[in-house]
Amino acid sequence: MKIAIATNNKKKLKEIRAVLGSFFDEMLSLEELGIDIEIEETGTTLTENALIKARTILRLTGLASLADDSGLMCDALDGAPGVYSARYAGDEHDDAANNALLLKNLAGKDRSAHFCSVIALCLPDGREFTAEGRVDGTILDEERGEGGFGYDPLFFSPELGKTFAEASPEEKNSVSHRGRALRAMEAVVEAEGLQNAK
Ligand code: IMP
Repeated sequence: MKIAIATNNKKKLKEIRAVLGSFFDEMLSLEELGIDIEIEETGTTLTENALIKARTILRLTGLASLADDSGLMCDALDGAPGVYSARYAGDEHDDAANNALLLKNLAGKDRSAHFCSVIALCLPDGREFTAEGRVDGTILDEERGEGGFGYDPLFFSPELGKTFAEASPEEKNSVSHRGRALRAMEAVVEAEGLQNAK
């Protein structure tokens, strides 16, 4: 089966292909499909937004479509930035500005946080599947590491003993919210025999 991946984030694409790549004949990014759109994420939950993205790309391509929606939830901020993680400091999706605002808002507060990811897979026959993953950690006082993207330099993983930006892509995938959600989706794909669907 050939599937479309509803993202233009190269780091996300790499993480998605690392787990599910072997199941499908081809996993095509929006760029590879020649699709240039900014999908409006109007949902109030990660699941709604993941489904909005996957359904939109299915409608445009006719291909089975997979999307991820993810966010960082901080306990001291009542779950913010949450669903609005990409736009925390404004519509520019500026990682540096988002990280700076997060540090400002967390000053003097508890640093417990978790990332969540929901993966949605929508098929041309109308079937829809979702899978979730979560990883716990703490937010540091300053950025550490050069890898990853988004809040990775601030997110310290006790399981890895380092930030996600200091971890190799394989290390990050082994514990991350997206890695876990993708492996949950892998189990669904296997159980449903979707890799053989058309
Ligand atoms: P989405 O692309 O709408 O799912 O927005 C996700 C936003 O959450 C990203 O722009 C990042 O700010 C944040 N985020 C999600 N996953 C990660 C991750 O693995 N590392 C760091 N930040 C992440």
